[in-house]
Amino acid sequence: MSAFICMTCGTQFAPTDEPPSACPICLDERQYIGPDGQQWTTLHALADEHRNRVEEQEPGLLGVGTEPSFAIAQRALCVDGLLWDCITLLDEDTSNALEEAGGIHTIAISHPHYYSAMVAWAERFDAQVLLHEADRQWVMYPSERIEFWSGERHHISDQLELVRLGGHFDGGTVCLWRAGAEGRGALLSGDIVTVVADRDWVSFMYSYPNMIPLSAGEIQRIRDIVAALEFDRVYGAWWNTVVVDGAKAKVLRSADRYLKALAGR
Ligand SMILES: [Zn+2]
Ligand SMILES: [Zn+2]
Repeated sequence: MSAFICMTCGTQFAPTDEPPSACPICLDERQYIGPDGQQWTTLHALADEHRNRVEEQEPGLLGVGTEPSFAIAQRALCVDGLLWDCITLLDEDTSNALEEAGGIHTIAISHPHYYSAMVAWAERFDAQVLLHEADRQWVMYPSERIEFWSGERHHISDQLELVRLGGHFDGGTVCLWRAGAEGRGALLSGDIVTVVADRDWVSFMYSYPNMIPLSAGEIQRIRDIVAALEFDRVYGAWWNTVVVDGAKAKVLRSADRYLKALAGR
């Protein structure tokens, strides 16, 4: 039996003798099947040709991403024993580096595109996985380590809180890290709030690869939630996707720009 991994989204499935017939996450209109059709790999095969880079993003915050890039190519973040979002590859060097930095007690994930190998990571670090219950149907590797939370906010510690924004996925979650940005607060946003090429702006989409926007009602709802949060920096899903400062105002003005575009300029 192998826990097969979809090569397009990086999701690891529960162990089976044969590869699964399809990847529901990639069949969904928010993702896609690559030009060569559905491809599968395993953690073992992935480790042959890839390694992880672990790099400090600011004091207390580590980034962890795979090189050369794999699947959606997100980099995870590690702060105060929380792994925010997850990646597929987990090898000895990565485990050792993160153990040295204090280990991982909790894994929280913004949305199903980054569920990746969350169960393998949780088992390695003896951690629990926090997912929003609205996205329960997208879990491809059930585990007793997964705890579904519900509602709009989930307190992890005095410094860390999960906030449901929805949008890209019903359970789309961001994480507020109060000590981030030298105490002004940082929002770890995955691609629920996505930092765009001009890093003074963000966007919000139903599908990024297929460029399907969200409705005005959804953007307004997200804007109202963000307006009640205190933060000055946003860490998006990939290396260097960071709004370095003044981020709250930049997220709000990005929502306003989006609403203006939908209304017709
Ligand atoms: Zn997939
Ligand atoms: Zn996504």
